[in-house]
Amino acid sequence: MMKKRIYIAYTGGTIGMKPSASGFVPVEGYLTETIANMPDFYHDDMPEFVINEYSPLIDSANVSPEVWQTIAHDIEENYDAFDGFIVLHGTDTMSYTASALSFVFENLTKPIIITGSQIPLSQLRTDARINLLNSLYIAAHHPINEVCLFFNNQLFRGNRTTKQYADGFDAFVSPNVAPLLEAGIEIKKLSKLPNVMPKEALKVHSIKVQSIAILHLFPGLNWLVLDNLLKSPLQALVILTYGVGNAQQDEQLLDTLKRASERGIVIVNCSQCLKGAVNMQGYATGHALSEAGVISGADMTTETVIAKLYYLLSQSLPYKELVTLFQRDLRGELG
Ligand code: ASP
Repeated sequence: MMKKRIYIAYTGGTIGMKPSASGFVPVEGYLTETIANMPDFYHDDMPEFVINEYSPLIDSANVSPEVWQTIAHDIEENYDAFDGFIVLHGTDTMSYTASALSFVFENLTKPIIITGSQIPLSQLRTDARINLLNSLYIAAHHPINEVCLFFNNQLFRGNRTTKQYADGFDAFVSPNVAPLLEAGIEIKKLSKLPNVMPKEALKVHSIKVQSIAILHLFPGLNWLVLDNLLKSPLQALVILTYGVGNAQQDEQLLDTLKRASERGIVIVNCSQCLKGAVNMQGYATGHALSEAGVISGADMTTETVIAKLYYLLSQSLPYKELVTLFQRDLRGELG
């Protein structure tokens, strides 16, 4: 049987870093060289792969929409020549990138798996070997045609994930949707989500920098802080609310939000809770927000809300259309 061919876009992150006097730093060529000396990657059951090392390699704290666009172009250029794609990425902003790529690629017929590690591949107790080896194996033998995230033996729908653990191996969680696969003795399908093959051709959308802010509510927040934030040239504001989407019943705060949404600023209600969904009809404190023109982030992660706003704002849509599309499930990110 012909071996599958997988394209690895190596953007940076801990996975390929080297210890230095000032902590781990990305070093050119180091990851590729380490892999070349690991026979497991060339086992008969493994696919063929090529690694495109980005220059410069970055810590993912430095990821921006320009980087998402670069990754998207890179995959688009190589789409026909490979059976699947792996993006090696730092863990810090991995869920943002997974979410952004899920919106950028419409009608995917091949898997894109984003992965990385908490300890570099070259180190004794590394988790990189498991993560990369399994990502390659799954991309070849259990392909799922969407943007996924593989970490600590679980394959997740990328736009449902969030980084939950700063220094544990189970760094990622998918709070509202079961993982897609689990790599145990066998690769087990956990999710009941249907795997639909699109009939239409691949579309690669553009994604650009937009002016977005997040405000985390807390008891005693002065409404003037919000007022000042909304005076900046904002296109969208995400407010992180309590529970099912509740906020303090502060007339000035609500009035400020109402005036901002009337000016065309998209205001999204996202819960501070990890699990569950926003329901602005549950309590008067949530209802007041919907009366002020705030729209629901439903059960989307904050990372996906930000990525979806970047994606939709990049399409230059009229406010009404943007707000309608935002609340619609576009890539399995909500509902
Ligand atoms: N700071 C690193 C990064 O996000 C952390 C990691 O890769 O795990 O690039």
